[in-house]
Amino acid sequence: MIKTDVCIIGAGPSGAATSLMLSNLKIHHFIIDKETFPRDKTCGDGLILYAYKAMKILGNNLFEDFLNHPNFLHSKGVRLHINSKICLPVTESEDRDFFISYAKRIDFDHFLVEKLSKIFTNIEFGNGVKNLEEKPDGILITLKDEKQILTKLIVGADGANSIVSKKLALPKNDIKNKSTFVSAYFKNINDFNEMNEGEIRLIYKKAPLFFYIFPLVNGEANVSLGGNSYFIKKHKINLIQEIENIISSNKYVKHKFSNAERISNWRGWVIPYHLGKQKIIGNRFLLTGDAAGLSNAFYKEGVGTGMMSGIIAARNIEKCLKYNNFSANFLKEYETEIKNEFGKLLKFSLYMLKISKYKRIFGFLVEIFKNRFIKKSFKIIERRSY
Ligand SMILES: Cc1cc2nc3c(=O)[nH]c(=O)nc-3n(C[C@H](O)[C@H](O)[C@H](O)COP(=O)(O)OP(=O)(O)OC[C@H]3O[C@@H](n4cnc5c(N)ncnc54)[C@H](O)[C@@H]3O)c2cc1C
Repeated sequence: MIKTDVCIIGAGPSGAATSLMLSNLKIHHFIIDKETFPRDKTCGDGLILYAYKAMKILGNNLFEDFLNHPNFLHSKGVRLHINSKICLPVTESEDRDFFISYAKRIDFDHFLVEKLSKIFTNIEFGNGVKNLEEKPDGILITLKDEKQILTKLIVGADGANSIVSKKLALPKNDIKNKSTFVSAYFKNINDFNEMNEGEIRLIYKKAPLFFYIFPLVNGEANVSLGGNSYFIKKHKINLIQEIENIISSNKYVKHKFSNAERISNWRGWVIPYHLGKQKIIGNRFLLTGDAAGLSNAFYKEGVGTGMMSGIIAARNIEKCLKYNNFSANFLKEYETEIKNEFGKLLKFSLYMLKISKYKRIFGFLVEIFKNRFIKKSFKIIERRSY
């Protein structure tokens, strides 16, 4: 049996950021993923705010290499169409170069994984976690090939269906605090302007749905649709049917798709946002990213919040090792820091999502507060971005 101080499960953005920060702190650790990289992940492929902030904090030229990567596209803004009359242009201020970047996850996650330390990181990819058992001196991890690792502390960075959360945090099935989305890649979409602006539209069916078109390099685009999982289930909304209808018949959208070709299958996945409603720490474990429910309910940022949570996790792990204390009580500081960093923004987004159910009221409020929001957004961006 292998013994280690720290083992990260999952090498998506949250796990990779945890590993990179642990290496910056000179802490040896394991990182495990059931997949080998490059591997794909269903996503909108938009990177904003915390993704930039996290890359800057992680250092080692990560941010500069990201900016110069040939497969990543950088843009000054996104247009959020609340209805046919109201459009919120969310843009960067004049003194900044971009507000959002677009990177296929197959490339971005691989880019991060390639940066993992050769000195401090033991990599075990293509070998998923099969079981976890609490032992007096650690958590015993059994992998698919029956290899066993005993770790003093385990980091659950294994996404929305986290086995670490299922086995150690015992989560409730929280369908009201997650979104369900479908997404596919297209090429030859007309009408992207020179600024490469992404487009988000609120589309009202029996519940509000969010329709995204995000540009990518090589004239491709990521097109997705989704909304609150509870409403989608309650109203029996078929997301693939709905998105195909939007593309073929929505009067603000269909002309863009007149020459377009779908170049991948539709794929579906969930986005959890249950911070404050489920456990994210316990004896010898902590959760990051989607496993901790850290996605933004309204605009779906989950990559950046995941990476930032990995950085906060690594700093707290350093303290655990220093004081040889891996108890739930000691890890409460991690939970507090996560709530301090994301709590306000994620609560506000959840609130926005809740009001957006009421089409008229939401439109009215956006109309009134539009200019204030645009002014304030620069401050929000400054605090949480690069
Ligand atoms: C359709 C859609 C659109 C989205 N759009 C955006 C967007 O535009 N911008 C944005 O910021 N976010 C977006 N998100 C959210 C974003 O994809 C997630 O928040 C983000 O991937 C979370 O990163 P993570 O590292 O926590 O988890 P993941 O990226 O899910 O990584 C988890 C890793 O754990 C591994 N793993 C899982 N189980 C095991 C196991 N048992 N053993 C070993 N390894 C395991 C997986 O293979 C995976 O590599 C979107 C999500 C969806 C579904």
